[in-house]
Amino acid sequence: MSRAYNFCAGPAALPTAVLEQAQQEILDFQGKGLSIMEMSHRDKVFVDIAEKAEQDLRDLMGISDDYAVLFLQGGASTQFAMVPMNLLGEGETADYINTGQWSKKAIKEAGRYGKINVAASSEDSNFTTVPPQESWKLSANPAYLHYCPNETIGGLEYSFIPEVGGTPLVADMSSTILSRPVDVNRFGMIYAGAQKNIGPAGLTLVIIRKDLLGKAGAHVPAMLNYQTHADNGSMYNTPPTYAWYLAGLVFEWLKKQGGVANMAEINQRKAEKLYGFIDGSDFYSNPVEKISRSWMNVPFVLADDALDKTFLAEADAAGLLNLKGHRSVGGMRASIYNAVPEAAVDALIAFMAEFERKNA
Ligand SMILES: *Cc1c(COP(=O)(O)O)cnc(C)c1O
Repeated sequence: MSRAYNFCAGPAALPTAVLEQAQQEILDFQGKGLSIMEMSHRDKVFVDIAEKAEQDLRDLMGISDDYAVLFLQGGASTQFAMVPMNLLGEGETADYINTGQWSKKAIKEAGRYGKINVAASSEDSNFTTVPPQESWKLSANPAYLHYCPNETIGGLEYSFIPEVGGTPLVADMSSTILSRPVDVNRFGMIYAGAQKNIGPAGLTLVIIRKDLLGKAGAHVPAMLNYQTHADNGSMYNTPPTYAWYLAGLVFEWLKKQGGVANMAEINQRKAEKLYGFIDGSDFYSNPVEKISRSWMNVPFVLADDALDKTFLAEADAAGLLNLKGHRSVGGMRASIYNAVPEAAVDALIAFMAEFERKNA
Protein backbone atom coordinates (compact mmCIF):
# COMPACT_ATOMS: atom_id res chain seq x y z
CA MET A 1 0.00 0.00 0.00
CA SER A 2 1.23 3.51 -0.74
CA ARG A 3 -0.39 6.88 -0.20
CA ALA A 4 0.17 9.57 -2.79
CA TYR A 5 0.38 13.26 -1.94
CA ASN A 6 -3.11 14.65 -2.45
CA PHE A 7 -3.54 18.34 -3.25
CA CYS A 8 -7.29 18.12 -3.82
CA ALA A 9 -9.29 21.26 -2.96
CA GLY A 10 -12.10 19.14 -1.57
CA PRO A 11 -12.92 16.52 -0.54
CA ALA A 12 -9.35 16.87 0.60
CA ALA A 13 -6.57 14.85 2.19
CA LEU A 14 -7.15 13.38 5.64
CA PRO A 15 -4.34 12.58 8.08
CA THR A 16 -3.06 9.04 7.48
CA ALA A 17 -3.05 8.37 11.24
CA VAL A 18 -6.76 9.19 11.37
CA LEU A 19 -7.60 6.84 8.52
CA GLU A 20 -5.55 4.09 10.15
CA GLN A 21 -7.44 4.47 13.40
CA ALA A 22 -10.77 4.45 11.56
CA GLN A 23 -9.68 1.33 9.70
CA GLN A 24 -8.79 -0.39 12.94
CA GLU A 25 -12.14 0.50 14.51
CA ILE A 26 -14.39 -0.03 11.52
CA LEU A 27 -15.68 -3.57 12.11
CA ASP A 28 -15.75 -3.65 15.87
CA PHE A 29 -15.75 -0.32 17.66
CA GLN A 30 -13.97 -0.80 21.00
CA GLY A 31 -15.29 -4.31 21.56
CA LYS A 32 -18.97 -3.44 20.99
CA GLY A 33 -19.18 -5.87 18.06
CA LEU A 34 -20.39 -3.35 15.51
CA SER A 35 -19.28 -0.33 13.54
CA ILE A 36 -20.02 3.29 14.44
CA MET A 37 -21.97 3.44 11.19
CA GLU A 38 -24.37 0.74 12.42
CA MET A 39 -25.05 2.21 15.84
CA SER A 40 -27.95 4.39 17.02
CA HIS A 41 -27.06 8.05 17.33
CA ARG A 42 -28.86 7.88 20.71
CA ASP A 43 -26.54 5.12 21.96
CA LYS A 44 -24.34 6.34 24.79
CA VAL A 45 -21.29 5.14 22.85
CA PHE A 46 -22.06 7.53 20.02
CA VAL A 47 -23.25 10.35 22.26
CA ASP A 48 -19.87 10.19 24.03
CA ILE A 49 -18.04 10.36 20.70
CA ALA A 50 -20.19 13.33 19.63
CA GLU A 51 -19.70 15.24 22.87
CA LYS A 52 -15.96 14.64 22.88
CA ALA A 53 -15.68 15.90 19.29
CA GLU A 54 -17.51 19.09 20.22
CA GLN A 55 -15.38 19.62 23.33
CA ASP A 56 -12.15 19.05 21.40
CA LEU A 57 -13.24 21.58 18.78
CA ARG A 58 -14.10 24.06 21.53
CA ASP A 59 -10.65 23.53 23.05
CA LEU A 60 -8.86 23.87 19.70
CA MET A 61 -10.63 27.09 18.70
CA GLY A 62 -11.25 28.55 22.17
CA ILE A 63 -15.03 28.58 21.69
CA SER A 64 -16.82 29.89 24.79
CA ASP A 65 -20.21 28.86 26.19
CA ASP A 66 -21.70 31.95 24.54
CA TYR A 67 -21.64 29.95 21.30
CA ALA A 68 -23.53 26.87 20.14
CA VAL A 69 -21.63 24.37 18.01
CA LEU A 70 -23.83 22.56 15.49
CA PHE A 71 -23.01 19.44 13.44
CA LEU A 72 -25.25 19.72 10.37
CA GLN A 73 -25.57 18.46 6.79
CA GLY A 74 -26.10 20.14 3.44
CA GLY A 75 -22.63 21.64 2.99
CA ALA A 76 -21.59 25.27 3.09
CA SER A 77 -23.95 25.82 0.14
CA THR A 78 -26.97 25.21 2.39
CA GLN A 79 -25.56 27.81 4.78
CA PHE A 80 -25.74 30.35 1.97
CA ALA A 81 -29.54 30.09 2.42
CA MET A 82 -29.75 29.27 6.12
CA VAL A 83 -27.84 32.40 7.13
CA PRO A 84 -30.39 34.85 5.69
CA MET A 85 -33.33 32.57 6.58
CA ASN A 86 -32.25 32.76 10.22
CA LEU A 87 -30.59 36.15 10.57
CA LEU A 88 -32.20 38.50 8.06
CA GLY A 89 -35.48 39.83 9.42
CA GLU A 90 -38.38 41.38 7.55
CA GLY A 91 -37.31 44.72 6.04
CA GLU A 92 -33.68 44.38 7.14
CA THR A 93 -30.54 44.60 4.98
CA ALA A 94 -27.50 42.34 5.07
CA ASP A 95 -24.04 43.46 3.92
CA TYR A 96 -21.85 41.15 1.83
CA ILE A 97 -18.29 41.45 0.57
CA ASN A 98 -17.67 39.94 -2.85
CA THR A 99 -14.15 38.53 -3.17
CA GLY A 100 -14.61 35.42 -5.29
CA GLN A 101 -16.74 32.58 -6.55
CA TRP A 102 -17.93 31.47 -3.11
CA SER A 103 -18.87 34.99 -1.94
CA LYS A 104 -20.74 35.43 -5.19
CA LYS A 105 -22.77 32.29 -4.67
CA ALA A 106 -23.56 33.32 -1.10
CA ILE A 107 -24.73 36.73 -2.33
CA LYS A 108 -26.88 35.25 -5.06
CA GLU A 109 -28.59 32.86 -2.67
CA ALA A 110 -29.14 35.48 0.05
CA GLY A 111 -30.84 37.71 -2.53
CA ARG A 112 -33.81 35.33 -2.48
CA TYR A 113 -34.57 36.18 1.14
CA GLY A 114 -34.19 39.91 1.55
CA LYS A 115 -32.28 43.04 0.76
CA ILE A 116 -28.57 42.54 0.16
CA ASN A 117 -25.99 45.31 -0.03
CA VAL A 118 -22.72 44.33 -1.69
CA ALA A 119 -20.54 46.67 0.35
CA ALA A 120 -17.35 45.97 -1.60
CA SER A 121 -16.19 43.80 -4.48
CA SER A 122 -12.85 42.89 -6.02
CA GLU A 123 -14.36 41.46 -9.18
CA ASP A 124 -12.64 44.24 -11.18
CA SER A 125 -9.25 42.79 -10.24
CA ASN A 126 -10.50 39.34 -11.17
CA PHE A 127 -10.59 38.57 -7.43
CA THR A 128 -6.84 38.93 -6.92
CA THR A 129 -7.23 41.55 -4.18
CA VAL A 130 -9.20 42.14 -0.98
CA PRO A 131 -10.85 45.56 -1.01
CA PRO A 132 -9.38 47.62 1.87
CA GLN A 133 -11.87 48.05 4.65
CA GLU A 134 -11.83 51.86 4.36
CA SER A 135 -13.47 51.47 0.93
CA TRP A 136 -16.41 49.36 2.11
CA LYS A 137 -19.83 50.97 1.79
CA LEU A 138 -21.60 49.40 4.74
CA SER A 139 -25.30 50.01 5.23
CA ALA A 140 -26.63 52.00 8.15
CA ASN A 141 -27.84 49.16 10.34
CA PRO A 142 -27.19 45.79 8.69
CA ALA A 143 -28.53 42.54 10.17
CA TYR A 144 -25.05 41.07 9.65
CA LEU A 145 -21.97 41.30 7.46
CA HIS A 146 -21.02 38.18 5.50
CA TYR A 147 -17.60 37.46 4.03
CA CYS A 148 -15.46 34.54 2.95
CA PRO A 149 -12.08 34.75 4.75
CA ASN A 150 -10.48 32.32 2.30
CA GLU A 151 -11.66 32.04 -1.28
CA THR A 152 -10.81 28.45 -2.13
CA ILE A 153 -10.96 28.87 -5.90
CA GLY A 154 -9.00 32.10 -6.31
CA GLY A 155 -6.57 31.40 -3.46
CA LEU A 156 -7.36 34.77 -1.88
CA GLU A 157 -7.28 35.12 1.91
CA TYR A 158 -8.06 38.15 4.08
CA SER A 159 -5.07 39.27 6.12
CA PHE A 160 -7.44 40.88 8.66
CA ILE A 161 -10.73 40.28 10.44
CA PRO A 162 -13.21 43.01 9.49
CA GLU A 163 -14.02 45.61 12.17
CA VAL A 164 -17.78 45.93 12.18
CA GLY A 165 -18.65 47.24 15.64
CA GLY A 166 -21.83 45.65 16.93
CA THR A 167 -22.85 44.11 13.59
CA PRO A 168 -22.72 40.30 13.72
CA LEU A 169 -19.87 39.11 11.50
CA VAL A 170 -20.68 35.92 9.56
CA ALA A 171 -17.82 34.00 7.95
CA ASP A 172 -17.69 31.13 5.46
CA MET A 173 -14.53 29.50 6.81
CA SER A 174 -14.88 26.27 4.82
CA SER A 175 -11.30 26.28 3.57
CA THR A 176 -9.41 28.03 6.37
CA ILE A 177 -11.00 26.89 9.63
CA LEU A 178 -8.42 25.32 11.99
CA SER A 179 -5.51 26.44 9.80
CA ARG A 180 -4.44 28.98 12.44
CA PRO A 181 -5.72 30.51 15.68
CA VAL A 182 -8.68 32.86 15.29
CA ASP A 183 -10.54 34.91 17.89
CA VAL A 184 -14.02 33.38 17.67
CA ASN A 185 -15.40 36.18 19.87
CA ARG A 186 -15.06 38.55 16.93
CA PHE A 187 -17.73 36.59 15.05
CA GLY A 188 -21.48 36.23 15.28
CA MET A 189 -21.30 33.04 13.29
CA ILE A 190 -18.74 30.83 11.54
CA TYR A 191 -19.61 27.97 9.22
CA ALA A 192 -17.62 25.44 7.26
CA GLY A 193 -18.21 22.40 5.10
CA ALA A 194 -16.09 19.65 6.63
CA GLN A 195 -14.43 18.28 3.51
CA LYS A 196 -11.57 20.80 3.33
CA ASN A 197 -9.94 21.01 6.73
CA ILE A 198 -12.14 19.03 9.12
CA GLY A 199 -13.14 15.59 7.87
CA PRO A 200 -15.10 13.84 5.14
CA ALA A 201 -17.87 15.43 3.08
CA GLY A 202 -21.39 15.25 4.48
CA LEU A 203 -20.83 17.24 7.66
CA THR A 204 -21.15 21.01 8.05
CA LEU A 205 -20.03 22.87 11.15
CA VAL A 206 -21.83 25.93 12.45
CA ILE A 207 -20.53 27.97 15.37
CA ILE A 208 -23.15 30.56 16.32
CA ARG A 209 -23.45 33.08 19.14
CA LYS A 210 -26.45 32.01 21.18
CA ASP A 211 -28.14 35.43 21.11
CA LEU A 212 -28.48 35.01 17.32
CA LEU A 213 -30.61 31.90 17.72
CA GLY A 214 -34.40 32.04 17.59
CA LYS A 215 -34.69 34.83 15.02
CA ALA A 216 -36.03 32.70 12.15
CA GLY A 217 -39.54 33.42 10.91
CA ALA A 218 -42.39 30.93 11.39
CA HIS A 219 -42.18 29.78 7.75
CA VAL A 220 -38.59 28.53 8.12
CA PRO A 221 -38.55 24.70 8.10
CA ALA A 222 -37.49 23.10 11.38
CA MET A 223 -34.49 21.47 9.68
CA LEU A 224 -33.26 24.85 8.43
CA ASN A 225 -33.66 26.62 11.76
CA TYR A 226 -30.48 26.85 13.87
CA GLN A 227 -32.61 26.89 17.03
CA THR A 228 -33.91 23.38 16.26
CA HIS A 229 -30.40 21.97 16.10
CA ALA A 230 -29.14 23.94 19.09
CA ASP A 231 -32.08 22.69 21.21
CA ASN A 232 -31.43 19.08 20.23
CA GLY A 233 -27.65 18.78 20.41
CA SER A 234 -27.62 18.46 16.59
CA MET A 235 -29.69 15.27 16.96
CA TYR A 236 -33.15 16.53 15.98
CA ASN A 237 -32.89 13.99 13.19
CA THR A 238 -30.19 11.44 12.42
CA PRO A 239 -26.89 13.33 12.13
CA PRO A 240 -24.06 12.21 9.81
CA THR A 241 -22.68 9.94 12.52
CA TYR A 242 -19.65 8.53 10.75
CA ALA A 243 -18.50 11.91 9.44
CA TRP A 244 -18.93 13.34 12.96
CA TYR A 245 -16.81 10.50 14.38
CA LEU A 246 -14.09 11.06 11.77
CA ALA A 247 -14.09 14.81 12.43
CA GLY A 248 -13.60 13.92 16.10
CA LEU A 249 -10.56 11.82 15.19
CA VAL A 250 -9.16 14.78 13.21
CA PHE A 251 -9.66 17.08 16.23
CA GLU A 252 -7.80 14.57 18.44
CA TRP A 253 -5.04 14.43 15.85
CA LEU A 254 -4.82 18.24 15.76
CA LYS A 255 -4.49 18.35 19.53
CA LYS A 256 -1.64 15.83 19.33
CA GLN A 257 0.08 18.03 16.72
CA GLY A 258 0.15 20.87 19.24
CA GLY A 259 -3.11 22.51 18.26
CA VAL A 260 -3.84 25.22 15.73
CA ALA A 261 -0.96 27.48 16.82
CA ASN A 262 1.46 24.78 15.77
CA MET A 263 -0.48 24.04 12.59
CA ALA A 264 -0.29 27.76 11.76
CA GLU A 265 3.52 27.68 11.90
CA ILE A 266 3.67 24.65 9.63
CA ASN A 267 1.03 26.03 7.26
CA GLN A 268 2.75 29.37 6.94
CA ARG A 269 6.07 27.66 6.23
CA LYS A 270 4.47 25.40 3.60
CA ALA A 271 2.80 28.36 1.87
CA GLU A 272 5.90 30.59 1.97
CA LYS A 273 8.04 27.86 0.44
CA LEU A 274 5.64 27.31 -2.43
CA TYR A 275 4.96 31.00 -3.17
CA GLY A 276 8.69 31.70 -2.81
CA PHE A 277 9.47 29.09 -5.43
CA ILE A 278 6.74 30.36 -7.79
CA ASP A 279 7.87 33.99 -7.43
CA GLY A 280 11.47 33.00 -8.05
CA SER A 281 10.61 31.44 -11.40
CA ASP A 282 9.62 32.97 -14.75
CA PHE A 283 7.97 29.70 -15.69
CA TYR A 284 5.27 29.72 -12.97
CA SER A 285 3.19 32.59 -11.63
CA ASN A 286 0.46 33.44 -9.14
CA PRO A 287 -1.64 36.59 -9.69
CA VAL A 288 -2.84 37.28 -6.14
CA GLU A 289 -1.60 40.38 -4.27
CA LYS A 290 1.08 39.19 -1.83
CA ILE A 291 -0.62 40.20 1.40
CA SER A 292 -3.81 38.32 0.46
CA ARG A 293 -2.33 35.02 -0.66
CA SER A 294 -4.02 31.98 0.80
CA TRP A 295 -2.09 29.62 3.05
CA MET A 296 -4.42 26.81 2.07
CA ASN A 297 -5.05 27.07 -1.69
CA VAL A 298 -2.20 28.03 -4.00
CA PRO A 299 -3.26 28.56 -7.64
CA PHE A 300 -0.55 28.94 -10.24
CA VAL A 301 -0.27 29.02 -14.01
CA LEU A 302 2.46 27.97 -16.41
CA ALA A 303 3.92 30.61 -18.75
CA ASP A 304 2.76 28.36 -21.61
CA ASP A 305 -0.64 26.82 -20.93
CA ALA A 306 -0.11 24.34 -23.75
CA LEU A 307 2.03 22.47 -21.20
CA ASP A 308 -0.79 22.16 -18.63
CA LYS A 309 -1.84 18.67 -19.70
CA THR A 310 1.71 17.35 -19.63
CA PHE A 311 2.33 18.94 -16.25
CA LEU A 312 -0.75 17.32 -14.76
CA ALA A 313 -0.07 13.90 -16.29
CA GLU A 314 3.54 13.85 -15.12
CA ALA A 315 2.59 15.11 -11.66
CA ASP A 316 0.02 12.36 -11.40
CA ALA A 317 2.55 9.74 -12.43
CA ALA A 318 4.90 11.11 -9.75
CA GLY A 319 2.23 10.62 -7.06
CA LEU A 320 1.26 14.30 -6.83
CA LEU A 321 -2.51 14.18 -7.27
CA ASN A 322 -5.34 16.60 -8.00
CA LEU A 323 -3.35 19.67 -9.02
CA LYS A 324 -5.78 20.79 -11.72
CA GLY A 325 -7.06 24.31 -11.13
CA HIS A 326 -10.77 25.10 -10.81
CA ARG A 327 -12.53 25.14 -14.19
CA SER A 328 -13.33 28.86 -13.74
CA VAL A 329 -9.68 29.85 -13.24
CA GLY A 330 -7.69 27.25 -15.21
CA GLY A 331 -4.04 26.36 -14.61
CA MET A 332 -3.11 24.53 -11.41
CA ARG A 333 -4.04 24.72 -7.79
CA ALA A 334 -2.26 23.06 -4.88
CA SER A 335 -4.46 22.83 -1.80
CA ILE A 336 -2.20 22.41 1.19
CA TYR A 337 -4.56 21.95 4.12
CA ASN A 338 -3.54 20.76 7.59
CA ALA A 339 -3.44 17.11 6.53
CA VAL A 340 -1.03 17.77 3.64
CA PRO A 341 2.44 17.32 5.14
CA GLU A 342 5.34 19.65 4.54
CA ALA A 343 7.07 16.80 2.70
CA ALA A 344 4.30 16.96 0.09
CA VAL A 345 5.09 20.61 -0.58
CA ASP A 346 8.80 19.80 -0.81
CA ALA A 347 8.04 17.02 -3.29
CA LEU A 348 5.82 19.34 -5.34
CA ILE A 349 8.49 22.04 -5.50
CA ALA A 350 11.14 19.49 -6.56
CA PHE A 351 8.79 18.23 -9.28
CA MET A 352 8.03 21.77 -10.47
CA ALA A 353 11.73 22.66 -10.63
CA GLU A 354 12.50 19.55 -12.67
CA PHE A 355 9.52 20.18 -14.98
CA GLU A 356 10.73 23.72 -15.58
CA ARG A 357 14.25 22.49 -16.30
CA LYS A 358 12.94 20.06 -18.93
CA ASN A 359 10.41 22.39 -20.56
CA ALA A 360 11.49 26.01 -20.16
C1 LIG B 1 -16.08 24.21 -0.84
C2 LIG B 1 -16.62 25.51 -0.41
C3 LIG B 1 -17.99 25.78 -0.40
C4 LIG B 1 -19.02 24.77 -0.88
O1 LIG B 1 -19.11 23.74 0.04
P1 LIG B 1 -20.18 22.56 -0.13
O2 LIG B 1 -19.95 21.82 1.14
O3 LIG B 1 -19.81 21.82 -1.36
O4 LIG B 1 -21.52 23.16 -0.21
C5 LIG B 1 -18.42 27.01 0.04
N1 LIG B 1 -17.55 27.95 0.45
C6 LIG B 1 -16.22 27.74 0.44
C7 LIG B 1 -15.30 28.81 0.90
C8 LIG B 1 -15.72 26.51 0.02
O5 LIG B 1 -14.39 26.29 0.02
